[in-house]
Amino acid sequence: MQIYNSLTHTKEELIPNEPGKIKMYTCGPTVYHFAHIGNLRSYIMEDVLEKHLRFVGYDVLRVMNITDVGHLSSDGDTGEDKMLKGAKREKKSVLEIAKYYTDAFFEDCRKLGIKTPDIVQPATGCIAEYIAIVQKLIEKEFAYEAGGNIYFDTSKMESYYAFHNFEEEDLEVGVREGVEADTNKRNKADFVLWFTKSKFDDQELKWESPWGIGYPGWHIECSGISMKYCGEYLDIHCGGIDNAFPHHTNEIAQSEAYLGHKWCNYWFHVHHLNTAGGKMSKSKGEFLTVSLLEEKGYDPMVYRLFCLGSHYRKSLVFSFENLDNAAASYKKLVAKIAALLPERDGAVDKDAFDKHRADFCAALDNDLNTSLAVTALYDVLKAQTSAATKLALIAEFDKVLTLNLIAAAEKLQVESAADDGDEDTAWIREMIDARTAAKKAKNFAEADRIRDELAAKGVTLIDTREGTKFEIKA
Ligand code: AMP
Ligand code: ZN
Repeated sequence: MQIYNSLTHTKEELIPNEPGKIKMYTCGPTVYHFAHIGNLRSYIMEDVLEKHLRFVGYDVLRVMNITDVGHLSSDGDTGEDKMLKGAKREKKSVLEIAKYYTDAFFEDCRKLGIKTPDIVQPATGCIAEYIAIVQKLIEKEFAYEAGGNIYFDTSKMESYYAFHNFEEEDLEVGVREGVEADTNKRNKADFVLWFTKSKFDDQELKWESPWGIGYPGWHIECSGISMKYCGEYLDIHCGGIDNAFPHHTNEIAQSEAYLGHKWCNYWFHVHHLNTAGGKMSKSKGEFLTVSLLEEKGYDPMVYRLFCLGSHYRKSLVFSFENLDNAAASYKKLVAKIAALLPERDGAVDKDAFDKHRADFCAALDNDLNTSLAVTALYDVLKAQTSAATKLALIAEFDKVLTLNLIAAAEKLQVESAADDGDEDTAWIREMIDARTAAKKAKNFAEADRIRDELAAKGVTLIDTREGTKFEIKA
Protein backbone atom coordinates (compact mmCIF):
# COMPACT_ATOMS: atom_id res chain seq x y z
CA MET A 1 0.00 0.00 0.00
CA GLN A 2 1.10 3.55 -0.75
CA ILE A 3 0.36 5.91 2.10
CA TYR A 4 1.02 9.62 2.50
CA ASN A 5 3.36 10.19 5.42
CA SER A 6 3.12 13.61 7.07
CA LEU A 7 6.68 13.15 8.35
CA THR A 8 8.19 13.06 4.88
CA HIS A 9 5.42 14.90 3.00
CA THR A 10 5.38 12.15 0.40
CA LYS A 11 3.41 9.08 -0.53
CA GLU A 12 5.46 6.06 0.52
CA GLU A 13 5.24 2.30 0.34
CA LEU A 14 3.95 1.07 3.70
CA ILE A 15 6.62 -1.22 5.14
CA PRO A 16 5.80 -2.47 8.64
CA ASN A 17 8.47 -3.03 11.28
CA GLU A 18 7.47 -6.68 11.49
CA PRO A 19 6.39 -8.35 8.23
CA GLY A 20 2.64 -8.89 8.06
CA LYS A 21 1.91 -6.99 11.28
CA ILE A 22 0.79 -3.39 11.75
CA LYS A 23 0.80 -1.56 15.05
CA MET A 24 -1.46 1.41 14.81
CA TYR A 25 -2.23 4.10 17.39
CA THR A 26 -5.08 6.61 17.26
CA CYS A 27 -5.60 9.70 19.38
CA GLY A 28 -8.98 9.15 20.99
CA PRO A 29 -11.61 11.71 21.93
CA THR A 30 -11.46 14.16 24.79
CA VAL A 31 -14.61 13.09 26.57
CA TYR A 32 -15.92 16.40 27.90
CA HIS A 33 -18.67 16.70 25.30
CA PHE A 34 -20.27 14.81 22.44
CA ALA A 35 -18.04 14.07 19.49
CA HIS A 36 -19.03 16.27 16.57
CA ILE A 37 -19.29 14.98 13.04
CA GLY A 38 -15.88 16.56 12.28
CA ASN A 39 -14.19 14.43 14.95
CA LEU A 40 -16.09 11.49 13.56
CA ARG A 41 -14.84 12.17 10.04
CA SER A 42 -11.36 11.45 11.40
CA TYR A 43 -12.52 8.25 13.08
CA ILE A 44 -14.38 7.08 9.96
CA MET A 45 -11.32 7.51 7.75
CA GLU A 46 -9.05 5.84 10.31
CA ASP A 47 -11.55 2.98 10.51
CA VAL A 48 -11.37 2.54 6.73
CA LEU A 49 -7.57 2.50 6.94
CA GLU A 50 -7.60 -0.17 9.65
CA LYS A 51 -10.16 -2.31 7.82
CA HIS A 52 -8.32 -2.00 4.52
CA LEU A 53 -5.08 -3.14 6.15
CA ARG A 54 -6.90 -6.18 7.53
CA PHE A 55 -8.60 -6.72 4.14
CA VAL A 56 -5.23 -7.02 2.38
CA GLY A 57 -4.04 -9.48 5.02
CA TYR A 58 -2.22 -7.57 7.75
CA ASP A 59 -2.50 -8.60 11.35
CA VAL A 60 -3.41 -5.23 12.87
CA LEU A 61 -3.15 -4.15 16.49
CA ARG A 62 -5.06 -0.91 16.94
CA VAL A 63 -4.82 1.07 20.17
CA MET A 64 -6.74 4.20 21.13
CA ASN A 65 -6.70 6.36 24.24
CA ILE A 66 -9.61 8.15 25.82
CA THR A 67 -8.49 11.57 27.03
CA ASP A 68 -10.11 11.97 30.43
CA VAL A 69 -7.49 14.19 32.05
CA GLY A 70 -4.84 16.77 31.16
CA HIS A 71 -6.17 18.22 27.87
CA LEU A 72 -6.23 21.92 28.62
CA SER A 73 -8.33 24.52 26.89
CA SER A 74 -5.37 25.52 24.77
CA ASP A 75 -3.24 22.87 23.07
CA GLY A 76 -0.30 25.05 24.12
CA ASP A 77 -0.70 23.83 27.74
CA THR A 78 -2.63 26.71 29.21
CA GLY A 79 -6.14 27.23 30.44
CA GLU A 80 -8.44 24.98 32.36
CA ASP A 81 -8.64 21.19 31.94
CA LYS A 82 -11.38 20.54 29.37
CA MET A 83 -12.79 17.74 31.52
CA LEU A 84 -13.19 20.07 34.48
CA LYS A 85 -14.88 22.60 32.26
CA GLY A 86 -17.33 19.92 31.09
CA ALA A 87 -17.99 18.82 34.67
CA LYS A 88 -18.72 22.39 35.77
CA ARG A 89 -20.97 22.98 32.78
CA GLU A 90 -23.09 19.96 33.70
CA LYS A 91 -22.67 20.11 37.49
CA LYS A 92 -21.32 16.57 37.58
CA SER A 93 -18.01 14.99 38.56
CA VAL A 94 -15.22 14.56 36.03
CA LEU A 95 -15.61 10.78 36.21
CA GLU A 96 -19.34 11.01 35.53
CA ILE A 97 -18.68 13.26 32.54
CA ALA A 98 -15.98 10.92 31.25
CA LYS A 99 -18.22 7.86 31.51
CA TYR A 100 -21.21 9.59 29.91
CA TYR A 101 -19.32 10.97 26.91
CA THR A 102 -17.19 7.86 26.42
CA ASP A 103 -20.38 5.79 26.13
CA ALA A 104 -21.90 8.42 23.81
CA PHE A 105 -18.77 8.33 21.63
CA PHE A 106 -18.91 4.55 21.18
CA GLU A 107 -22.63 4.71 20.50
CA ASP A 108 -21.95 7.23 17.69
CA CYS A 109 -19.17 4.98 16.40
CA ARG A 110 -21.51 2.00 16.38
CA LYS A 111 -24.09 3.94 14.35
CA LEU A 112 -21.40 4.99 11.88
CA GLY A 113 -20.01 1.48 11.49
CA ILE A 114 -16.70 2.39 13.17
CA LYS A 115 -15.08 -0.66 14.73
CA THR A 116 -13.92 -0.34 18.33
CA PRO A 117 -10.10 -0.53 18.40
CA ASP A 118 -8.54 -3.70 19.86
CA ILE A 119 -7.46 -1.74 22.91
CA VAL A 120 -9.18 1.34 24.31
CA GLN A 121 -7.34 2.86 27.24
CA PRO A 122 -8.57 5.79 29.35
CA ALA A 123 -5.65 8.09 30.09
CA THR A 124 -6.34 7.99 33.85
CA GLY A 125 -5.50 4.25 33.84
CA CYS A 126 -1.78 4.57 33.03
CA ILE A 127 -0.42 7.13 35.51
CA ALA A 128 2.48 4.90 36.62
CA GLU A 129 3.60 4.56 32.99
CA TYR A 130 3.70 8.35 32.46
CA ILE A 131 5.60 8.88 35.70
CA ALA A 132 8.23 6.32 34.63
CA ILE A 133 8.72 8.06 31.27
CA VAL A 134 8.95 11.51 32.86
CA GLN A 135 11.50 10.23 35.40
CA LYS A 136 13.69 8.89 32.63
CA LEU A 137 13.36 12.13 30.65
CA ILE A 138 14.56 14.05 33.71
CA GLU A 139 17.49 11.63 34.14
CA LYS A 140 18.40 12.10 30.48
CA GLU A 141 18.12 15.89 30.96
CA PHE A 142 15.37 16.24 28.42
CA ALA A 143 13.03 17.50 31.14
CA TYR A 144 13.24 20.07 33.94
CA GLU A 145 11.23 21.23 36.90
CA ALA A 146 10.04 24.83 37.05
CA GLY A 147 7.41 26.43 39.24
CA GLY A 148 6.21 23.01 40.39
CA ASN A 149 5.62 21.56 36.91
CA ILE A 150 7.83 19.26 34.85
CA TYR A 151 8.53 20.53 31.33
CA PHE A 152 10.04 18.94 28.26
CA ASP A 153 13.02 20.95 27.02
CA THR A 154 12.49 21.20 23.27
CA SER A 155 15.89 22.87 22.76
CA LYS A 156 17.53 19.50 23.56
CA MET A 157 16.09 17.97 20.41
CA GLU A 158 18.17 18.08 17.28
CA SER A 159 15.04 18.61 15.26
CA TYR A 160 11.95 19.34 17.34
CA TYR A 161 9.58 20.42 14.54
CA ALA A 162 9.17 16.92 13.14
CA PHE A 163 6.56 17.91 10.59
CA HIS A 164 8.53 21.02 9.53
CA ASN A 165 5.52 23.03 8.52
CA PHE A 166 4.62 24.33 11.96
CA GLU A 167 6.01 27.25 13.87
CA GLU A 168 6.05 28.51 17.42
CA GLU A 169 3.31 30.97 16.48
CA ASP A 170 1.00 28.03 15.88
CA LEU A 171 1.04 27.46 19.63
CA GLU A 172 -1.37 30.35 19.78
CA VAL A 173 -3.92 28.02 18.15
CA GLY A 174 -6.80 27.57 20.54
CA VAL A 175 -5.54 30.19 22.98
CA ARG A 176 -8.45 32.30 24.02
CA GLU A 177 -8.94 35.40 26.08
CA GLY A 178 -7.92 35.10 29.70
CA VAL A 179 -5.25 32.50 28.95
CA GLU A 180 -1.76 33.69 29.89
CA ALA A 181 1.61 32.55 28.59
CA ASP A 182 3.49 30.21 30.97
CA THR A 183 6.63 32.04 32.18
CA ASN A 184 8.19 28.86 33.63
CA LYS A 185 9.08 27.59 30.17
CA ARG A 186 12.72 27.88 29.11
CA ASN A 187 11.69 27.84 25.45
CA LYS A 188 8.38 28.91 24.02
CA ALA A 189 7.71 25.46 22.54
CA ASP A 190 8.45 23.57 25.81
CA PHE A 191 5.46 21.66 27.09
CA VAL A 192 4.24 20.26 30.38
CA LEU A 193 4.78 16.58 31.12
CA TRP A 194 3.42 16.69 34.66
CA PHE A 195 1.46 19.44 36.41
CA THR A 196 1.52 20.04 40.14
CA LYS A 197 0.78 23.75 39.95
CA SER A 198 -2.09 25.19 38.09
CA LYS A 199 -4.04 28.31 38.66
CA PHE A 200 -7.09 26.07 38.56
CA ASP A 201 -6.73 24.59 42.05
CA ASP A 202 -9.97 22.67 41.88
CA GLN A 203 -8.56 20.10 39.41
CA GLU A 204 -10.50 17.03 40.48
CA LEU A 205 -8.28 14.12 39.52
CA LYS A 206 -4.76 14.15 40.98
CA TRP A 207 -2.15 11.51 41.75
CA GLU A 208 0.99 11.15 43.89
CA SER A 209 4.22 11.58 41.95
CA PRO A 210 7.92 12.13 42.76
CA TRP A 211 7.26 15.85 42.08
CA GLY A 212 4.20 16.21 44.26
CA ILE A 213 0.52 15.59 43.83
CA GLY A 214 -0.57 16.42 40.31
CA TYR A 215 -1.71 15.18 36.92
CA PRO A 216 -0.19 14.33 33.53
CA GLY A 217 0.01 16.57 30.49
CA TRP A 218 -2.10 15.56 27.51
CA HIS A 219 0.81 14.67 25.19
CA ILE A 220 2.51 12.19 27.54
CA GLU A 221 -0.70 10.16 27.66
CA CYS A 222 -0.49 9.14 24.02
CA SER A 223 3.21 8.24 24.19
CA GLY A 224 2.69 6.25 27.39
CA ILE A 225 -0.37 4.35 26.17
CA SER A 226 1.08 3.67 22.75
CA MET A 227 4.34 2.29 24.15
CA LYS A 228 2.54 0.23 26.79
CA TYR A 229 0.61 -1.74 24.17
CA CYS A 230 2.61 -1.39 20.94
CA GLY A 231 6.13 -1.37 22.35
CA GLU A 232 9.03 0.77 21.20
CA TYR A 233 8.29 0.66 17.46
CA LEU A 234 5.01 1.97 16.11
CA ASP A 235 4.03 1.63 12.45
CA ILE A 236 1.19 4.14 12.01
CA HIS A 237 -0.02 6.97 14.22
CA CYS A 238 -3.36 8.57 13.28
CA GLY A 239 -5.23 11.71 14.19
CA GLY A 240 -6.88 14.83 12.84
CA ILE A 241 -4.53 17.32 11.16
CA ASP A 242 -4.97 19.81 14.02
CA ASN A 243 -3.18 17.29 16.25
CA ALA A 244 0.02 17.39 14.16
CA PHE A 245 1.18 20.42 16.07
CA PRO A 246 1.77 20.68 18.93
CA HIS A 247 0.33 17.32 20.09
CA HIS A 248 2.01 14.87 17.72
CA THR A 249 5.17 16.95 17.48
CA ASN A 250 5.44 16.69 21.28
CA GLU A 251 4.64 12.99 21.26
CA ILE A 252 7.54 12.41 18.86
CA ALA A 253 9.94 14.59 20.87
CA GLN A 254 9.29 12.92 24.22
CA SER A 255 9.01 9.35 22.85
CA GLU A 256 12.23 9.54 20.86
CA ALA A 257 14.10 11.30 23.68
CA TYR A 258 12.92 8.54 26.01
CA LEU A 259 13.60 5.64 23.67
CA GLY A 260 16.79 6.92 22.08
CA HIS A 261 15.62 5.87 18.61
CA LYS A 262 12.97 6.55 15.99
CA TRP A 263 9.52 5.72 17.31
CA CYS A 264 6.81 5.85 14.64
CA ASN A 265 7.34 5.49 10.90
CA TYR A 266 4.09 6.75 9.35
CA TRP A 267 1.86 9.64 10.39
CA PHE A 268 -1.66 9.58 8.97
CA HIS A 269 -3.52 12.86 9.35
CA VAL A 270 -7.15 13.40 8.40
CA HIS A 271 -8.01 16.90 7.27
CA HIS A 272 -10.85 18.88 8.70
CA LEU A 273 -14.53 18.91 8.25
CA ASN A 274 -15.39 22.55 7.82
CA THR A 275 -18.60 24.48 7.80
CA ALA A 276 -19.16 27.80 6.06
CA GLY A 277 -17.77 29.41 9.25
CA GLY A 278 -14.53 27.36 9.30
CA LYS A 279 -13.37 24.26 11.17
CA MET A 280 -16.08 22.48 13.12
CA SER A 281 -14.94 22.52 16.74
CA LYS A 282 -16.35 21.64 20.14
CA SER A 283 -14.99 24.76 21.77
CA LYS A 284 -17.03 26.96 19.43
CA GLY A 285 -20.05 25.51 21.20
CA GLU A 286 -22.16 25.01 18.07
CA PHE A 287 -21.53 21.74 16.35
CA LEU A 288 -23.36 18.88 14.71
CA THR A 289 -23.64 15.46 16.26
CA VAL A 290 -24.81 12.11 14.90
CA SER A 291 -27.96 12.32 17.04
CA LEU A 292 -28.77 15.69 15.54
CA LEU A 293 -28.45 14.28 12.02
CA GLU A 294 -30.74 11.43 13.03
CA GLU A 295 -33.28 13.86 14.45
CA LYS A 296 -33.29 15.56 11.07
CA GLY A 297 -34.09 12.19 9.50
CA TYR A 298 -30.66 11.17 8.17
CA ASP A 299 -29.40 7.61 8.45
CA PRO A 300 -25.86 7.81 9.96
CA MET A 301 -24.70 5.65 7.03
CA VAL A 302 -25.44 8.61 4.77
CA TYR A 303 -22.86 10.64 6.67
CA ARG A 304 -20.37 7.79 6.32
CA LEU A 305 -20.98 7.69 2.55
CA PHE A 306 -20.60 11.48 2.44
CA CYS A 307 -17.17 11.15 4.12
CA LEU A 308 -16.05 8.29 1.88
CA GLY A 309 -16.84 10.42 -1.16
CA SER A 310 -13.83 12.65 -0.62
CA HIS A 311 -10.16 12.09 0.09
CA TYR A 312 -9.03 12.20 3.71
CA ARG A 313 -6.22 14.63 2.84
CA LYS A 314 -8.61 17.27 1.57
CA SER A 315 -10.71 19.39 3.86
CA LEU A 316 -14.37 18.65 3.42
CA VAL A 317 -17.13 21.23 3.53
CA PHE A 318 -20.26 20.16 5.29
CA SER A 319 -23.66 21.46 4.22
CA PHE A 320 -27.10 19.92 4.37
CA GLU A 321 -27.31 20.25 0.62
CA ASN A 322 -24.19 18.06 0.27
CA LEU A 323 -25.60 15.62 2.79
CA ASP A 324 -28.88 15.45 0.86
CA ASN A 325 -26.93 14.49 -2.24
CA ALA A 326 -25.26 11.70 -0.28
CA ALA A 327 -28.68 10.62 1.04
CA ALA A 328 -30.05 10.42 -2.51
CA SER A 329 -27.01 8.39 -3.64
CA TYR A 330 -27.36 6.03 -0.70
CA LYS A 331 -31.04 5.49 -1.40
CA LYS A 332 -30.37 4.71 -5.08
CA LEU A 333 -27.50 2.40 -4.19
CA VAL A 334 -29.65 0.43 -1.77
CA ALA A 335 -32.53 0.23 -4.26
CA LYS A 336 -30.19 -1.15 -6.96
CA ILE A 337 -28.84 -3.74 -4.56
CA ALA A 338 -32.36 -4.70 -3.42
CA ALA A 339 -33.21 -5.40 -7.08
CA LEU A 340 -30.40 -7.99 -7.17
CA LEU A 341 -31.56 -9.89 -4.10
CA PRO A 342 -34.11 -12.21 -5.78
CA GLU A 343 -31.23 -13.75 -7.76
CA ARG A 344 -28.78 -13.96 -4.89
CA ASP A 345 -28.47 -17.76 -5.01
CA GLY A 346 -26.99 -17.88 -8.54
CA ALA A 347 -23.41 -18.78 -9.42
CA VAL A 348 -20.50 -16.43 -8.62
CA ASP A 349 -18.18 -15.72 -11.54
CA LYS A 350 -14.74 -16.03 -9.95
CA ASP A 351 -12.85 -14.12 -12.65
CA ALA A 352 -15.21 -11.15 -12.44
CA PHE A 353 -15.07 -11.30 -8.67
CA ASP A 354 -11.26 -11.25 -8.62
CA LYS A 355 -11.05 -8.43 -11.17
CA HIS A 356 -13.41 -6.12 -9.31
CA ARG A 357 -11.90 -6.96 -5.95
CA ALA A 358 -8.48 -6.06 -7.35
CA ASP A 359 -9.81 -2.71 -8.65
CA PHE A 360 -11.27 -1.95 -5.24
CA CYS A 361 -8.01 -2.83 -3.47
CA ALA A 362 -5.99 -0.77 -5.94
CA ALA A 363 -8.10 2.31 -5.13
CA LEU A 364 -7.49 1.96 -1.40
CA ASP A 365 -3.86 0.90 -1.86
CA ASN A 366 -3.35 4.30 -3.46
CA ASP A 367 -3.28 6.38 -0.27
CA LEU A 368 -6.76 5.29 0.73
CA ASN A 369 -8.65 6.69 -2.23
CA THR A 370 -12.12 6.06 -0.82
CA SER A 371 -14.01 7.92 -3.52
CA LEU A 372 -12.45 5.64 -6.15
CA ALA A 373 -13.33 2.66 -3.96
CA VAL A 374 -16.96 3.84 -4.00
CA THR A 375 -16.69 4.21 -7.78
CA ALA A 376 -15.48 0.58 -7.89
CA LEU A 377 -18.73 -0.31 -6.11
CA TYR A 378 -20.80 1.49 -8.78
CA ASP A 379 -18.76 -0.29 -11.45
CA VAL A 380 -19.81 -3.61 -9.94
CA LEU A 381 -23.47 -2.62 -10.18
CA LYS A 382 -23.03 -1.68 -13.85
CA ALA A 383 -20.94 -4.75 -14.74
CA GLN A 384 -22.06 -7.53 -17.10
CA THR A 385 -22.02 -10.28 -14.52
CA SER A 386 -24.46 -12.27 -12.42
CA ALA A 387 -26.45 -10.78 -9.54
CA ALA A 388 -24.82 -13.32 -7.23
CA THR A 389 -21.34 -12.12 -8.26
CA LYS A 390 -22.38 -8.51 -7.69
CA LEU A 391 -23.81 -9.29 -4.27
CA ALA A 392 -20.70 -11.26 -3.30
CA LEU A 393 -18.54 -8.29 -4.31
CA ILE A 394 -20.72 -5.79 -2.47
CA ALA A 395 -20.53 -7.88 0.70
CA GLU A 396 -16.76 -8.09 0.24
CA PHE A 397 -16.30 -4.32 -0.26
CA ASP A 398 -18.56 -3.60 2.68
CA LYS A 399 -16.04 -5.31 4.98
CA VAL A 400 -14.06 -2.11 4.48
CA LEU A 401 -16.65 0.50 3.50
CA THR A 402 -19.16 -0.63 6.17
CA LEU A 403 -22.13 1.09 4.55
CA ASN A 404 -24.46 -1.66 5.71
CA LEU A 405 -25.57 -2.06 2.11
CA ILE A 406 -26.94 -5.59 1.96
CA ALA A 407 -28.83 -5.28 5.25
CA ALA A 408 -30.36 -1.98 4.09
CA ALA A 409 -31.35 -3.60 0.77
CA GLU A 410 -32.92 -6.56 2.59
CA LYS A 411 -34.91 -4.15 4.77
CA LEU A 412 -36.10 -2.28 1.69
CA GLN A 413 -37.10 -5.56 0.07
CA VAL A 414 -39.22 -6.51 3.08
CA GLU A 415 -40.84 -3.06 3.17
CA SER A 416 -41.68 -3.05 -0.53
CA ALA A 417 -43.08 -6.58 -0.28
CA ALA A 418 -45.42 -5.30 2.43
CA ASP A 419 -46.41 -2.40 0.18
CA ASP A 420 -46.85 -4.59 -2.90
CA GLY A 421 -50.13 -4.05 -4.64
CA ASP A 422 -51.11 -1.51 -2.05
CA GLU A 423 -51.47 1.76 -3.91
CA ASP A 424 -52.62 3.58 -0.78
CA THR A 425 -49.40 2.78 1.07
CA ALA A 426 -47.29 3.90 -1.88
CA TRP A 427 -49.22 7.19 -1.99
CA ILE A 428 -48.77 7.71 1.77
CA ARG A 429 -45.02 7.14 1.43
CA GLU A 430 -44.84 9.66 -1.41
CA MET A 431 -46.70 12.19 0.75
CA ILE A 432 -44.33 11.54 3.66
CA ASP A 433 -41.30 12.05 1.38
CA ALA A 434 -42.80 15.31 0.09
CA ARG A 435 -43.41 16.48 3.68
CA THR A 436 -39.84 15.60 4.73
CA ALA A 437 -38.53 17.57 1.74
CA ALA A 438 -40.77 20.52 2.63
CA LYS A 439 -39.54 20.48 6.23
CA LYS A 440 -35.93 20.41 5.09
CA ALA A 441 -36.61 23.38 2.85
CA LYS A 442 -38.17 25.07 5.91
CA ASN A 443 -41.50 25.21 4.07
CA PHE A 444 -43.46 24.38 7.20
CA ALA A 445 -46.79 25.54 5.77
CA GLU A 446 -46.52 22.92 3.02
CA ALA A 447 -45.39 20.29 5.55
CA ASP A 448 -48.45 21.03 7.71
CA ARG A 449 -50.74 20.98 4.70
CA ILE A 450 -49.52 17.48 3.78
CA ARG A 451 -49.97 16.29 7.37
CA ASP A 452 -53.54 17.67 7.38
CA GLU A 453 -54.37 16.11 4.01
CA LEU A 454 -53.25 12.72 5.34
CA ALA A 455 -55.10 13.23 8.63
CA ALA A 456 -58.30 13.95 6.71
CA LYS A 457 -57.95 10.48 5.17
CA GLY A 458 -57.40 8.86 8.58
CA VAL A 459 -53.59 8.66 8.35
CA THR A 460 -51.67 9.77 11.44
CA LEU A 461 -47.96 10.59 11.11
CA ILE A 462 -45.46 9.79 13.84
CA ASP A 463 -42.01 11.42 13.60
CA THR A 464 -39.31 9.17 15.01
CA ARG A 465 -35.50 9.14 15.00
CA GLU A 466 -35.63 6.61 12.17
CA GLY A 467 -37.91 8.82 10.08
CA THR A 468 -41.64 9.34 9.81
CA LYS A 469 -43.94 6.38 10.42
CA PHE A 470 -47.71 6.25 9.93
CA GLU A 471 -50.84 4.65 11.35
CA ILE A 472 -54.11 4.19 9.45
CA LYS A 473 -57.38 4.39 11.38
CA ALA A 474 -59.44 1.28 10.78
P1 AMP B 1 -10.73 15.82 20.48
O1 AMP B 1 -11.91 15.07 21.01
O2 AMP B 1 -10.90 17.29 20.45
O3 AMP B 1 -9.45 15.41 21.21
O4 AMP B 1 -10.57 15.39 18.96
C1 AMP B 1 -10.72 14.08 18.51
C2 AMP B 1 -10.17 13.92 17.09
O5 AMP B 1 -10.93 14.68 16.15
C3 AMP B 1 -8.72 14.38 16.93
O6 AMP B 1 -8.04 13.43 16.14
C4 AMP B 1 -8.85 15.71 16.21
O7 AMP B 1 -7.70 16.00 15.47
C5 AMP B 1 -10.04 15.43 15.32
N1 AMP B 1 -10.77 16.63 14.86
C6 AMP B 1 -11.09 17.74 15.58
N2 AMP B 1 -11.81 18.63 14.85
C7 AMP B 1 -11.96 18.07 13.62
C8 AMP B 1 -12.63 18.47 12.40
N3 AMP B 1 -13.30 19.61 12.30
N4 AMP B 1 -12.55 17.62 11.33
C9 AMP B 1 -11.90 16.44 11.43
N5 AMP B 1 -11.27 16.00 12.53
C10 AMP B 1 -11.30 16.79 13.64
ZN1 ZN C 1 -2.83 11.78 21.11
